[in-house]
Amino acid sequence: MNDSKHQVLKSVFGFDTFRLGQEAVIDLLLAGRRVLAVMPTGSGKSLCFQIPALMRDGLTIVVSPLLALMQDQVASLRLAGVAAEAINSAQSRDTNVAVWRRVASGETRLLYLSPERLMTARMLEALAKLGVKLIAVDEAHCISQWGPSFRPEYRDLGRLKELFPEVPIAALTATADAVTRTDIVEQLFDGRAETLVLGFDRPNIRLAVRGKQDSKRQLLAFLKDHAGENGIVYCLSRKRTEQTAQLLAAHGIPALPYHAGMSREVREANQNRFMTEPNLVIVATIAFGMGIDKADVRFVFHMDLPSSLEAYYQEIGRAGRDGAPAEAHLLLGLADIRMRRLFIDEEDAGEDRKRREHQRLNALIGYCEAAGCRRQILLSYFGESPQPCGNCDNCIRPVQLVEGTLLAQQILSAVKRTGERYGAAHIVDVLRGVPTERIMAAQHDRIPTFGIGAERKKEEWHALVRQLIAGGWLEMDIAGFGGLSVSGKGHALLRGADSFHYRPYEKLARVRGKAGDPQAGAVDDILLTSLKSLRLRLAKERRLPAYLIFSDRTLLDMAARRPRNRAEFANVNGVGAAKLGEFSDVFLAAIAAHSTIEQV
Ligand code: ADP
Ligand code: ZN
Repeated sequence: MNDSKHQVLKSVFGFDTFRLGQEAVIDLLLAGRRVLAVMPTGSGKSLCFQIPALMRDGLTIVVSPLLALMQDQVASLRLAGVAAEAINSAQSRDTNVAVWRRVASGETRLLYLSPERLMTARMLEALAKLGVKLIAVDEAHCISQWGPSFRPEYRDLGRLKELFPEVPIAALTATADAVTRTDIVEQLFDGRAETLVLGFDRPNIRLAVRGKQDSKRQLLAFLKDHAGENGIVYCLSRKRTEQTAQLLAAHGIPALPYHAGMSREVREANQNRFMTEPNLVIVATIAFGMGIDKADVRFVFHMDLPSSLEAYYQEIGRAGRDGAPAEAHLLLGLADIRMRRLFIDEEDAGEDRKRREHQRLNALIGYCEAAGCRRQILLSYFGESPQPCGNCDNCIRPVQLVEGTLLAQQILSAVKRTGERYGAAHIVDVLRGVPTERIMAAQHDRIPTFGIGAERKKEEWHALVRQLIAGGWLEMDIAGFGGLSVSGKGHALLRGADSFHYRPYEKLARVRGKAGDPQAGAVDDILLTSLKSLRLRLAKERRLPAYLIFSDRTLLDMAARRPRNRAEFANVNGVGAAKLGEFSDVFLAAIAAHSTIEQV
Protein backbone atom coordinates (compact mmCIF):
# COMPACT_ATOMS: atom_id res chain seq x y z
CA MET A 1 0.00 0.00 0.00
CA ASN A 2 2.78 2.39 0.89
CA ASP A 3 4.56 1.75 -2.35
CA SER A 4 1.53 2.25 -4.44
CA LYS A 5 1.20 5.99 -3.81
CA HIS A 6 4.74 6.47 -5.12
CA GLN A 7 3.89 4.21 -8.00
CA VAL A 8 0.83 6.25 -8.93
CA LEU A 9 2.85 9.45 -8.56
CA LYS A 10 5.40 8.15 -11.05
CA SER A 11 3.31 6.20 -13.51
CA VAL A 12 0.37 8.58 -13.81
CA PHE A 13 1.90 11.98 -13.11
CA GLY A 14 5.54 11.30 -13.88
CA PHE A 15 6.95 12.74 -10.64
CA ASP A 16 9.65 11.10 -8.55
CA THR A 17 9.02 12.71 -5.20
CA PHE A 18 6.18 14.22 -3.28
CA ARG A 19 6.20 17.85 -2.41
CA LEU A 20 6.07 19.11 1.15
CA GLY A 21 2.72 18.20 2.66
CA GLN A 22 1.34 16.03 -0.11
CA GLU A 23 2.21 12.73 1.51
CA ALA A 24 0.80 13.73 4.86
CA VAL A 25 -2.56 14.66 3.34
CA ILE A 26 -2.66 11.51 1.22
CA ASP A 27 -1.87 9.28 4.20
CA LEU A 28 -4.58 10.86 6.32
CA LEU A 29 -7.17 10.41 3.58
CA LEU A 30 -6.13 6.81 3.02
CA ALA A 31 -6.60 6.26 6.74
CA GLY A 32 -10.16 7.51 6.33
CA ARG A 33 -9.66 10.84 8.10
CA ARG A 34 -11.13 14.26 7.40
CA VAL A 35 -8.54 16.83 6.49
CA LEU A 36 -8.26 20.54 5.89
CA ALA A 37 -5.14 21.15 3.81
CA VAL A 38 -3.98 24.75 3.57
CA MET A 39 -1.26 24.93 0.96
CA PRO A 40 -0.30 27.75 -1.35
CA THR A 41 -1.35 27.94 -4.97
CA GLY A 42 0.90 25.89 -7.18
CA SER A 43 2.06 23.66 -4.34
CA GLY A 44 0.23 20.66 -5.75
CA LYS A 45 -2.99 20.38 -3.78
CA SER A 46 -4.82 18.47 -6.49
CA LEU A 47 -2.52 15.47 -6.21
CA CYS A 48 -3.43 15.19 -2.54
CA PHE A 49 -6.86 13.87 -3.44
CA GLN A 50 -6.18 12.61 -6.97
CA ILE A 51 -3.69 10.02 -5.78
CA PRO A 52 -5.93 8.49 -3.08
CA ALA A 53 -8.72 8.56 -5.66
CA LEU A 54 -6.64 6.42 -8.00
CA MET A 55 -5.37 4.03 -5.37
CA ARG A 56 -8.63 2.32 -4.68
CA ASP A 57 -11.63 1.35 -6.77
CA GLY A 58 -14.69 3.50 -6.74
CA LEU A 59 -15.71 7.07 -7.34
CA THR A 60 -14.28 10.30 -5.99
CA ILE A 61 -16.34 13.48 -6.05
CA VAL A 62 -14.52 16.77 -6.47
CA VAL A 63 -16.40 19.97 -5.68
CA SER A 64 -15.07 22.98 -7.50
CA PRO A 65 -16.57 26.47 -7.70
CA LEU A 66 -15.29 27.64 -11.06
CA LEU A 67 -16.09 26.11 -14.41
CA ALA A 68 -12.74 27.06 -15.87
CA LEU A 69 -10.78 25.41 -13.06
CA MET A 70 -12.93 22.34 -13.34
CA GLN A 71 -12.42 21.99 -17.09
CA ASP A 72 -8.68 22.50 -16.66
CA GLN A 73 -8.32 19.77 -14.08
CA VAL A 74 -10.42 17.31 -16.03
CA ALA A 75 -8.47 18.00 -19.22
CA SER A 76 -5.22 17.64 -17.35
CA LEU A 77 -6.24 14.32 -15.78
CA ARG A 78 -7.40 12.99 -19.13
CA LEU A 79 -4.04 13.83 -20.66
CA ALA A 80 -2.54 11.75 -17.89
CA GLY A 81 -4.81 8.89 -18.86
CA VAL A 82 -7.24 9.17 -15.96
CA ALA A 83 -10.99 8.65 -16.40
CA ALA A 84 -12.09 12.07 -15.12
CA GLU A 85 -15.37 13.76 -15.94
CA ALA A 86 -17.33 16.86 -15.13
CA ILE A 87 -21.02 17.53 -15.12
CA ASN A 88 -21.79 21.20 -15.47
CA SER A 89 -23.75 23.87 -17.23
CA ALA A 90 -21.04 24.54 -19.80
CA GLN A 91 -21.78 21.16 -21.38
CA SER A 92 -24.89 20.22 -23.31
CA ARG A 93 -27.55 18.14 -21.63
CA ASP A 94 -26.68 15.23 -23.88
CA THR A 95 -23.06 15.37 -22.85
CA ASN A 96 -24.03 15.47 -19.20
CA VAL A 97 -26.31 12.47 -19.65
CA ALA A 98 -23.55 10.52 -21.39
CA VAL A 99 -21.14 11.44 -18.60
CA TRP A 100 -23.56 10.24 -15.98
CA ARG A 101 -23.89 6.92 -17.80
CA ARG A 102 -20.14 6.40 -17.60
CA VAL A 103 -20.19 7.38 -13.94
CA ALA A 104 -23.00 4.91 -13.23
CA SER A 105 -21.18 2.12 -15.06
CA GLY A 106 -18.27 2.51 -12.68
CA GLU A 107 -15.87 3.63 -15.37
CA THR A 108 -15.26 7.12 -13.97
CA ARG A 109 -12.71 7.62 -11.21
CA LEU A 110 -13.09 11.33 -10.53
CA LEU A 111 -16.25 13.34 -11.07
CA TYR A 112 -16.06 17.13 -10.86
CA LEU A 113 -19.21 18.98 -9.82
CA SER A 114 -20.20 22.45 -8.77
CA PRO A 115 -21.63 22.60 -5.25
CA GLU A 116 -25.14 23.37 -6.49
CA ARG A 117 -25.11 20.35 -8.83
CA LEU A 118 -23.86 18.04 -6.11
CA MET A 119 -26.34 19.15 -3.46
CA THR A 120 -29.49 18.47 -5.44
CA ALA A 121 -31.64 15.73 -3.92
CA ARG A 122 -31.47 13.68 -7.10
CA MET A 123 -27.71 13.74 -7.39
CA LEU A 124 -27.20 12.94 -3.73
CA GLU A 125 -29.57 10.00 -3.94
CA ALA A 126 -27.93 8.63 -7.07
CA LEU A 127 -24.49 8.97 -5.54
CA ALA A 128 -25.56 7.31 -2.32
CA LYS A 129 -26.69 4.28 -4.33
CA LEU A 130 -23.55 4.25 -6.40
CA GLY A 131 -21.21 4.58 -3.45
CA VAL A 132 -18.67 7.36 -3.05
CA LYS A 133 -15.19 6.64 -1.82
CA LEU A 134 -13.75 10.08 -1.32
CA ILE A 135 -14.97 13.67 -1.44
CA ALA A 136 -12.68 16.60 -2.12
CA VAL A 137 -13.85 20.17 -1.62
CA ASP A 138 -11.57 22.46 -3.60
CA GLU A 139 -11.31 26.19 -2.83
CA ALA A 140 -12.81 25.34 0.54
CA HIS A 141 -12.49 28.93 1.81
CA CYS A 142 -15.60 29.69 -0.25
CA ILE A 143 -17.65 28.11 2.55
CA SER A 144 -16.60 30.76 5.03
CA GLN A 145 -18.45 34.01 5.28
CA TRP A 146 -15.27 35.42 6.74
CA GLY A 147 -13.19 34.22 3.84
CA PRO A 148 -12.21 36.49 0.99
CA SER A 149 -14.65 34.93 -1.47
CA PHE A 150 -17.71 33.55 0.21
CA ARG A 151 -20.12 31.62 -2.03
CA PRO A 152 -23.57 30.92 -0.63
CA GLU A 153 -23.76 27.67 -2.67
CA TYR A 154 -20.89 26.36 -0.57
CA ARG A 155 -22.76 26.63 2.68
CA ASP A 156 -24.91 23.64 1.81
CA LEU A 157 -21.80 21.45 1.68
CA GLY A 158 -21.95 21.40 5.46
CA ARG A 159 -24.49 18.60 5.08
CA LEU A 160 -21.97 16.26 3.45
CA LYS A 161 -20.61 15.08 6.77
CA GLU A 162 -24.02 13.71 7.76
CA LEU A 163 -24.97 12.51 4.28
CA PHE A 164 -21.73 10.55 3.86
CA PRO A 165 -20.65 9.76 7.42
CA GLU A 166 -18.24 7.02 6.38
CA VAL A 167 -16.51 8.86 3.57
CA PRO A 168 -13.21 10.68 4.05
CA ILE A 169 -13.52 14.32 3.07
CA ALA A 170 -10.67 16.59 2.05
CA ALA A 171 -11.02 20.36 2.12
CA LEU A 172 -8.35 22.25 0.22
CA THR A 173 -7.52 25.91 0.05
CA ALA A 174 -4.65 28.29 -0.51
CA THR A 175 -6.08 31.23 1.33
CA ALA A 176 -7.05 30.82 4.90
CA ASP A 177 -6.14 32.91 7.88
CA ALA A 178 -6.80 31.51 11.33
CA VAL A 179 -10.42 32.72 11.47
CA THR A 180 -11.29 31.25 8.10
CA ARG A 181 -9.57 27.96 8.91
CA THR A 182 -11.56 27.50 12.07
CA ASP A 183 -14.74 28.39 10.26
CA ILE A 184 -14.12 25.86 7.45
CA VAL A 185 -13.48 23.06 9.96
CA GLU A 186 -16.55 24.07 11.94
CA GLN A 187 -18.87 24.08 8.95
CA LEU A 188 -17.58 21.13 6.96
CA PHE A 189 -16.50 18.88 9.80
CA ASP A 190 -18.30 20.01 12.96
CA GLY A 191 -14.98 21.12 14.34
CA ARG A 192 -13.37 17.70 14.04
CA ALA A 193 -10.67 17.42 11.39
CA GLU A 194 -6.94 17.39 10.94
CA THR A 195 -5.67 20.76 9.78
CA LEU A 196 -2.38 20.92 7.89
CA VAL A 197 -0.82 24.27 7.01
CA LEU A 198 2.25 23.73 4.90
CA GLY A 199 4.63 25.04 2.36
CA PHE A 200 3.94 28.76 2.51
CA ASP A 201 7.55 29.77 2.68
CA ARG A 202 9.03 30.79 -0.65
CA PRO A 203 12.53 31.66 0.47
CA ASN A 204 13.79 32.53 -3.00
CA ILE A 205 11.43 35.48 -3.32
CA ARG A 206 13.03 38.62 -1.98
CA LEU A 207 10.44 40.86 -0.35
CA ALA A 208 10.55 44.63 -0.43
CA VAL A 209 8.13 47.49 0.20
CA ARG A 210 8.59 51.17 -0.58
CA GLY A 211 6.55 54.25 0.02
CA LYS A 212 4.87 55.42 -3.16
CA GLN A 213 6.36 58.69 -4.34
CA ASP A 214 6.34 58.62 -8.10
CA SER A 215 5.15 55.18 -9.06
CA LYS A 216 6.08 55.43 -12.74
CA ARG A 217 9.60 56.51 -12.00
CA GLN A 218 9.88 53.89 -9.31
CA LEU A 219 8.71 51.17 -11.70
CA LEU A 220 11.10 52.23 -14.44
CA ALA A 221 14.00 52.30 -11.99
CA PHE A 222 13.10 48.84 -10.78
CA LEU A 223 12.86 47.46 -14.31
CA LYS A 224 16.28 48.86 -15.14
CA ASP A 225 17.69 46.34 -12.68
CA HIS A 226 15.59 43.60 -14.24
CA ALA A 227 16.23 44.10 -17.92
CA GLY A 228 15.52 41.03 -20.02
CA GLU A 229 13.51 39.29 -17.34
CA ASN A 230 9.93 38.07 -17.28
CA GLY A 231 7.72 39.69 -14.73
CA ILE A 232 4.27 40.79 -13.70
CA VAL A 233 3.29 44.35 -12.80
CA TYR A 234 0.01 44.48 -10.91
CA CYS A 235 -2.22 47.56 -11.08
CA LEU A 236 -5.49 48.32 -9.41
CA SER A 237 -7.53 49.41 -12.42
CA ARG A 238 -7.90 48.56 -16.07
CA LYS A 239 -7.02 52.06 -17.11
CA ARG A 240 -3.82 52.10 -15.12
CA THR A 241 -2.94 48.72 -16.59
CA GLU A 242 -3.22 50.09 -20.12
CA GLN A 243 -1.35 53.28 -19.29
CA THR A 244 1.46 51.46 -17.59
CA ALA A 245 1.89 48.99 -20.45
CA GLN A 246 2.11 51.98 -22.81
CA LEU A 247 4.62 53.69 -20.57
CA LEU A 248 6.86 50.64 -20.62
CA ALA A 249 6.55 50.20 -24.36
CA ALA A 250 7.50 53.85 -24.79
CA HIS A 251 10.67 53.12 -22.82
CA GLY A 252 11.53 50.17 -25.01
CA ILE A 253 10.45 47.53 -22.52
CA PRO A 254 8.36 44.78 -24.13
CA ALA A 255 5.09 44.83 -22.21
CA LEU A 256 1.51 43.68 -22.68
CA PRO A 257 -1.63 44.58 -20.75
CA TYR A 258 -4.04 42.03 -19.31
CA HIS A 259 -7.39 42.76 -17.68
CA ALA A 260 -10.96 41.57 -17.64
CA GLY A 261 -12.15 44.42 -19.86
CA MET A 262 -10.25 43.11 -22.85
CA SER A 263 -11.74 40.63 -25.30
CA ARG A 264 -11.11 37.00 -24.60
CA GLU A 265 -9.06 36.55 -27.76
CA VAL A 266 -6.66 39.38 -26.94
CA ARG A 267 -6.35 38.28 -23.36
CA GLU A 268 -5.55 34.71 -24.37
CA ALA A 269 -3.12 35.87 -27.01
CA ASN A 270 -1.29 38.07 -24.49
CA GLN A 271 -1.25 35.30 -21.94
CA ASN A 272 0.13 32.83 -24.46
CA ARG A 273 2.87 35.24 -25.46
CA PHE A 274 3.77 35.72 -21.82
CA MET A 275 3.88 31.97 -21.31
CA THR A 276 6.18 31.35 -24.27
CA GLU A 277 8.29 34.40 -25.02
CA PRO A 278 11.32 35.41 -23.03
CA ASN A 279 11.82 39.01 -21.87
CA LEU A 280 8.23 40.11 -21.56
CA VAL A 281 6.46 42.07 -18.85
CA ILE A 282 2.75 41.62 -18.36
CA VAL A 283 0.90 44.54 -16.77
CA ALA A 284 -2.24 43.18 -15.23
CA THR A 285 -5.10 43.54 -12.85
CA ILE A 286 -5.66 40.63 -10.51
CA ALA A 287 -7.75 39.02 -13.26
CA PHE A 288 -4.37 37.71 -14.38
CA GLY A 289 -2.91 34.78 -12.57
CA MET A 290 -5.59 32.14 -12.20
CA GLY A 291 -3.92 28.87 -13.07
CA ILE A 292 -0.75 30.57 -14.31
CA ASP A 293 2.03 28.07 -14.01
CA LYS A 294 5.00 29.87 -15.50
CA ALA A 295 8.14 28.84 -13.71
CA ASP A 296 10.54 31.64 -14.60
CA VAL A 297 8.67 34.77 -13.58
CA ARG A 298 11.51 36.79 -12.04
CA PHE A 299 9.56 39.58 -10.38
CA VAL A 300 6.15 40.77 -9.29
CA PHE A 301 5.86 44.52 -8.93
CA HIS A 302 2.81 46.00 -7.21
CA MET A 303 2.09 49.49 -8.44
CA ASP A 304 -0.92 49.59 -6.12
CA LEU A 305 -1.91 47.99 -2.86
CA PRO A 306 -3.54 44.53 -2.96
CA SER A 307 -6.68 43.90 -0.91
CA SER A 308 -5.17 41.81 1.87
CA LEU A 309 -2.11 39.93 3.00
CA GLU A 310 -3.60 36.76 1.48
CA ALA A 311 -4.10 38.40 -1.88
CA TYR A 312 -0.59 39.83 -1.75
CA TYR A 313 0.84 36.44 -0.95
CA GLN A 314 -1.03 34.81 -3.83
CA GLU A 315 0.12 37.44 -6.24
CA ILE A 316 3.80 37.43 -5.32
CA GLY A 317 3.65 33.62 -5.31
CA ARG A 318 3.63 33.72 -9.10
CA ALA A 319 7.28 34.71 -9.02
CA GLY A 320 10.18 32.29 -8.82
CA ARG A 321 8.39 28.99 -9.08
CA ASP A 322 11.57 27.49 -10.53
CA GLY A 323 13.28 28.10 -7.21
CA ALA A 324 15.73 30.62 -8.65
CA PRO A 325 15.95 34.11 -7.07
CA ALA A 326 12.97 36.35 -7.69
CA GLU A 327 11.79 39.66 -6.34
CA ALA A 328 8.51 41.00 -4.99
CA HIS A 329 8.33 44.77 -4.80
CA LEU A 330 5.36 46.73 -3.54
CA LEU A 331 4.62 50.45 -3.48
CA LEU A 332 2.40 51.76 -0.71
CA GLY A 333 0.68 55.12 -0.86
CA LEU A 334 -1.97 56.69 1.34
CA ALA A 335 -4.33 57.10 -1.59
CA ASP A 336 -4.24 53.32 -2.06
CA ILE A 337 -5.23 52.69 1.52
CA ARG A 338 -8.14 55.06 1.06
CA MET A 339 -9.18 53.39 -2.17
CA ARG A 340 -9.11 49.95 -0.59
CA ARG A 341 -11.21 51.17 2.35
CA LEU A 342 -13.68 52.59 -0.09
CA PHE A 343 -13.91 49.29 -2.00
CA ILE A 344 -14.69 47.44 1.19
CA ASP A 345 -17.35 49.90 2.25
CA GLU A 346 -19.02 49.85 -1.13
CA GLU A 347 -19.26 46.08 -1.04
CA ASP A 348 -22.73 44.70 -0.66
CA ALA A 349 -22.00 42.93 2.59
CA GLY A 350 -22.89 42.93 6.26
CA GLU A 351 -21.14 45.12 8.82
CA ASP A 352 -19.43 42.15 10.39
CA ARG A 353 -17.86 41.11 7.14
CA LYS A 354 -16.77 44.64 6.36
CA ARG A 355 -15.13 44.91 9.72
CA ARG A 356 -13.14 41.75 9.03
CA GLU A 357 -12.16 42.96 5.59
CA HIS A 358 -10.85 46.15 7.16
CA GLN A 359 -8.86 44.03 9.61
CA ARG A 360 -7.42 42.03 6.73
CA LEU A 361 -6.38 45.22 5.04
CA ASN A 362 -4.88 46.45 8.30
CA ALA A 363 -2.74 43.32 8.46
CA LEU A 364 -1.36 44.16 5.04
CA ILE A 365 -0.68 47.78 5.95
CA GLY A 366 1.02 46.61 9.12
CA TYR A 367 3.20 44.31 7.02
CA CYS A 368 4.12 47.17 4.70
CA GLU A 369 5.14 49.54 7.47
CA ALA A 370 6.89 46.91 9.59
CA ALA A 371 10.51 47.38 10.53
CA GLY A 372 11.21 43.70 11.26
CA CYS A 373 11.59 40.71 8.98
CA ARG A 374 8.76 40.73 6.44
CA ARG A 375 8.77 36.98 5.91
CA GLN A 376 8.24 36.41 9.61
CA ILE A 377 5.19 38.64 9.54
CA LEU A 378 3.83 37.06 6.38
CA LEU A 379 4.31 33.46 7.47
CA SER A 380 3.11 33.96 11.00
CA TYR A 381 -0.09 35.33 9.51
CA PHE A 382 -0.55 31.93 7.87
CA GLY A 383 0.28 29.97 11.01
CA GLU A 384 3.97 29.21 10.49
CA SER A 385 6.70 30.57 12.75
CA PRO A 386 10.02 31.03 10.96
CA GLN A 387 13.33 32.74 11.82
CA PRO A 388 14.31 36.08 10.28
CA CYS A 389 14.86 35.35 6.61
CA GLY A 390 17.86 37.35 5.45
CA ASN A 391 16.12 37.91 2.12
CA CYS A 392 13.80 40.86 2.66
CA ASP A 393 14.63 44.57 2.57
CA ASN A 394 14.39 44.85 6.34
CA CYS A 395 16.73 41.91 6.94
CA ILE A 396 19.21 43.07 4.31
CA ARG A 397 19.33 46.62 5.58
CA PRO A 398 17.99 46.69 9.11
CA VAL A 399 15.88 49.74 9.74
CA GLN A 400 17.06 52.08 12.48
CA LEU A 401 13.87 53.29 14.05
CA VAL A 402 13.82 56.89 15.17
CA GLU A 403 12.13 58.15 18.31
CA GLY A 404 9.25 60.28 17.15
CA THR A 405 6.76 60.64 19.95
CA LEU A 406 6.67 64.43 19.69
CA LEU A 407 6.16 64.34 15.91
CA ALA A 408 3.35 61.86 16.35
CA GLN A 409 1.73 64.05 18.98
CA GLN A 410 1.87 67.00 16.61
CA ILE A 411 0.09 65.01 13.92
CA LEU A 412 -2.51 63.63 16.32
CA SER A 413 -3.10 67.06 17.75
CA ALA A 414 -3.61 68.57 14.30
CA VAL A 415 -6.09 65.81 13.52
CA LYS A 416 -8.00 66.47 16.73
CA ARG A 417 -8.00 70.24 16.46
CA THR A 418 -9.37 70.13 12.94
CA GLY A 419 -12.31 68.05 14.08
CA GLU A 420 -11.22 64.55 13.01
CA ARG A 421 -12.72 64.65 9.58
CA TYR A 422 -9.95 65.76 7.23
CA GLY A 423 -7.70 63.54 5.16
CA ALA A 424 -3.94 63.31 5.29
CA ALA A 425 -3.36 65.95 2.61
CA HIS A 426 -5.13 68.64 4.63
CA ILE A 427 -3.48 67.66 7.89
CA VAL A 428 -0.06 67.77 6.26
CA ASP A 429 -0.82 71.21 4.81
CA VAL A 430 -1.69 72.37 8.31
CA LEU A 431 1.53 70.99 9.76
CA ARG A 432 3.61 72.54 7.00
CA GLY A 433 1.77 75.82 7.28
CA VAL A 434 0.46 75.99 3.73
CA PRO A 435 -2.30 78.64 3.55
CA THR A 436 -4.63 76.77 1.20
CA GLU A 437 -8.10 78.05 0.55
CA ARG A 438 -9.60 75.25 2.63
CA ILE A 439 -7.29 76.01 5.53
CA MET A 440 -8.05 79.72 5.47
CA ALA A 441 -11.80 79.12 5.17
CA ALA A 442 -11.79 76.80 8.15
CA GLN A 443 -9.39 79.04 10.05
CA HIS A 444 -7.03 76.15 10.55
CA ASP A 445 -4.15 78.59 10.40
CA ARG A 446 -5.07 79.46 13.96
CA ILE A 447 -4.53 76.07 15.55
CA PRO A 448 -1.33 75.54 17.55
CA THR A 449 0.28 73.03 15.19
CA PHE A 450 -0.16 75.21 12.08
CA GLY A 451 3.24 75.49 10.38
CA ILE A 452 5.00 73.56 13.10
CA GLY A 453 6.84 71.33 10.63
CA ALA A 454 7.42 73.47 7.57
CA GLU A 455 10.94 72.14 7.18
CA ARG A 456 9.81 68.57 6.58
CA LYS A 457 8.81 67.46 3.11
CA LYS A 458 5.26 66.52 2.31
CA GLU A 459 6.29 62.92 1.58
CA GLU A 460 7.97 62.67 4.97
CA TRP A 461 4.79 63.69 6.74
CA HIS A 462 2.78 61.25 4.63
CA ALA A 463 5.13 58.42 5.57
CA LEU A 464 4.60 59.31 9.24
CA VAL A 465 0.84 59.35 8.85
CA ARG A 466 0.97 55.91 7.18
CA GLN A 467 2.96 54.53 10.05
CA LEU A 468 0.53 55.99 12.56
CA ILE A 469 -2.30 54.28 10.68
CA ALA A 470 -0.40 51.00 10.40
CA GLY A 471 0.28 51.01 14.13
CA GLY A 472 -3.31 51.83 14.99
CA TRP A 473 -2.76 55.31 16.49
CA LEU A 474 -4.72 56.92 13.71
CA GLU A 475 -7.80 55.57 11.99
CA MET A 476 -8.87 56.23 8.47
CA ASP A 477 -12.59 56.73 8.31
CA ILE A 478 -14.82 53.91 7.34
CA ALA A 479 -16.88 56.10 5.02
CA GLY A 480 -13.96 55.98 2.64
CA PHE A 481 -13.28 59.68 2.29
CA GLY A 482 -9.96 59.24 3.98
CA GLY A 483 -10.82 61.34 7.02
CA LEU A 484 -8.45 60.67 9.89
CA SER A 485 -9.38 60.29 13.53
CA VAL A 486 -7.45 59.56 16.70
CA SER A 487 -7.94 56.06 18.14
CA GLY A 488 -7.90 55.03 21.79
CA LYS A 489 -4.28 54.13 21.39
CA GLY A 490 -3.70 57.53 19.79
CA HIS A 491 -5.19 59.30 22.80
CA ALA A 492 -2.78 57.41 25.03
CA LEU A 493 0.06 58.64 22.85
CA LEU A 494 -1.23 62.21 23.09
CA ARG A 495 -1.28 61.91 26.88
CA GLY A 496 2.30 60.65 26.82
CA ALA A 497 1.28 57.18 28.00
CA ASP A 498 2.69 55.58 24.83
CA SER A 499 5.67 56.22 22.59
CA PHE A 500 6.19 56.23 18.84
CA HIS A 501 9.18 55.12 16.79
CA TYR A 502 9.22 55.41 13.05
CA ARG A 503 11.23 54.31 10.08
CA PRO A 504 12.83 57.36 8.58
CA TYR A 505 11.79 58.58 5.18
CA GLU A 506 13.96 57.43 2.29
CA LYS A 507 14.35 59.10 -1.03
CA LEU A 508 13.46 56.70 -3.84
CA ALA A 509 15.87 54.11 -2.56
CA ARG A 510 15.99 50.55 -3.78
CA VAL A 511 17.40 47.25 -2.66
CA ARG A 512 20.28 46.34 -4.92
CA GLY A 513 22.03 43.12 -5.69
CA LYS A 514 20.73 39.63 -6.14
CA ALA A 515 20.28 36.83 -3.69
CA GLY A 516 22.22 33.63 -4.22
CA ASP A 517 23.33 32.32 -7.56
CA PRO A 518 20.72 32.15 -10.24
CA GLN A 519 20.46 28.56 -11.43
CA ALA A 520 19.14 29.69 -14.77
CA GLY A 521 21.63 29.55 -17.58
CA ALA A 522 22.14 25.83 -17.07
CA VAL A 523 19.63 25.20 -19.83
CA ASP A 524 19.83 26.20 -23.42
CA ASP A 525 17.44 29.11 -23.97
CA ILE A 526 17.02 28.42 -27.66
CA LEU A 527 16.07 24.81 -27.05
CA LEU A 528 13.70 25.87 -24.29
CA THR A 529 12.04 28.42 -26.54
CA SER A 530 11.52 25.86 -29.28
CA LEU A 531 10.06 23.37 -26.78
CA LYS A 532 7.69 26.08 -25.61
CA SER A 533 6.49 26.88 -29.08
CA LEU A 534 5.99 23.18 -29.78
CA ARG A 535 3.93 23.01 -26.60
CA LEU A 536 1.89 25.98 -27.74
CA ARG A 537 1.19 24.36 -31.10
CA LEU A 538 0.07 21.11 -29.47
CA ALA A 539 -2.09 23.05 -27.04
CA LYS A 540 -3.76 24.99 -29.83
CA GLU A 541 -4.50 21.82 -31.79
CA ARG A 542 -6.19 20.46 -28.70
CA ARG A 543 -7.77 23.77 -27.71
CA LEU A 544 -6.17 23.53 -24.29
CA PRO A 545 -4.08 25.99 -22.29
CA ALA A 546 -0.40 25.33 -22.94
CA TYR A 547 0.57 24.50 -19.38
CA LEU A 548 -1.73 21.48 -19.38
CA ILE A 549 0.44 19.78 -22.01
CA PHE A 550 3.58 20.17 -19.91
CA SER A 551 4.39 22.64 -17.16
CA ASP A 552 7.31 25.02 -17.50
CA ARG A 553 9.16 22.98 -14.95
CA THR A 554 8.79 19.90 -17.11
CA LEU A 555 10.10 21.76 -20.17
CA LEU A 556 13.03 23.11 -18.16
CA ASP A 557 13.89 19.62 -17.01
CA MET A 558 13.51 18.35 -20.56
CA ALA A 559 15.84 21.02 -21.91
CA ALA A 560 18.38 20.22 -19.22
CA ARG A 561 18.31 16.45 -19.69
CA ARG A 562 17.91 16.39 -23.46
CA PRO A 563 16.48 12.89 -23.60
CA ARG A 564 17.40 10.89 -26.71
CA ASN A 565 14.86 8.09 -26.48
CA ARG A 566 11.61 7.13 -24.83
CA ALA A 567 13.25 5.57 -21.82
CA GLU A 568 15.15 8.78 -21.12
CA PHE A 569 12.06 10.84 -21.84
CA ALA A 570 10.16 8.91 -19.17
CA ASN A 571 12.64 10.22 -16.60
CA VAL A 572 11.75 13.83 -17.25
CA ASN A 573 9.96 15.37 -14.28
CA GLY A 574 6.24 15.52 -15.04
CA VAL A 575 6.09 12.82 -17.73
CA GLY A 576 3.72 10.00 -16.84
CA ALA A 577 2.78 6.98 -18.90
CA ALA A 578 -0.02 8.63 -20.88
CA LYS A 579 1.95 11.73 -21.81
CA LEU A 580 4.94 9.56 -22.66
CA GLY A 581 2.77 7.79 -25.20
CA GLU A 582 1.19 10.89 -26.62
CA PHE A 583 3.99 13.43 -26.67
CA SER A 584 7.39 11.77 -26.47
CA ASP A 585 7.91 11.38 -30.22
CA VAL A 586 7.30 15.02 -31.16
CA PHE A 587 9.38 16.39 -28.31
CA LEU A 588 12.20 13.89 -28.92
CA ALA A 589 12.22 14.94 -32.55
CA ALA A 590 12.44 18.61 -31.58
CA ILE A 591 15.33 17.93 -29.21
CA ALA A 592 17.14 15.82 -31.81
CA ALA A 593 16.70 18.53 -34.42
CA HIS A 594 18.13 21.08 -32.04
CA SER A 595 21.18 18.94 -31.33
CA THR A 596 21.83 18.56 -35.06
CA ILE A 597 21.76 22.32 -35.54
CA GLU A 598 24.25 22.71 -32.71
CA GLN A 599 26.71 20.32 -34.29
CA VAL A 600 26.72 22.13 -37.60
P1 ADP B 1 -2.59 23.90 -6.59
O1 ADP B 1 -3.91 23.24 -6.81
O2 ADP B 1 -2.05 23.70 -5.22
O3 ADP B 1 -2.54 25.32 -7.02
P2 ADP B 1 -1.73 22.08 -8.60
O4 ADP B 1 -2.30 20.87 -7.99
O5 ADP B 1 -2.41 22.66 -9.78
O6 ADP B 1 -1.52 23.20 -7.50
O7 ADP B 1 -0.20 21.78 -8.96
C1 ADP B 1 0.65 22.77 -9.45
C2 ADP B 1 1.70 22.16 -10.34
O8 ADP B 1 2.62 21.37 -9.61
C3 ADP B 1 1.13 21.26 -11.42
O9 ADP B 1 1.79 21.53 -12.64
C4 ADP B 1 1.45 19.88 -10.91
O10 ADP B 1 1.57 18.96 -11.96
C5 ADP B 1 2.78 20.10 -10.20
N1 ADP B 1 3.05 19.10 -9.15
C6 ADP B 1 2.19 18.67 -8.22
N2 ADP B 1 2.77 17.74 -7.42
C7 ADP B 1 4.04 17.60 -7.84
C8 ADP B 1 5.17 16.80 -7.43
N3 ADP B 1 5.08 15.97 -6.40
N4 ADP B 1 6.32 16.93 -8.11
C9 ADP B 1 6.42 17.78 -9.15
N5 ADP B 1 5.41 18.56 -9.60
C10 ADP B 1 4.22 18.48 -8.96
ZN1 ZN C 1 13.47 38.99 6.42
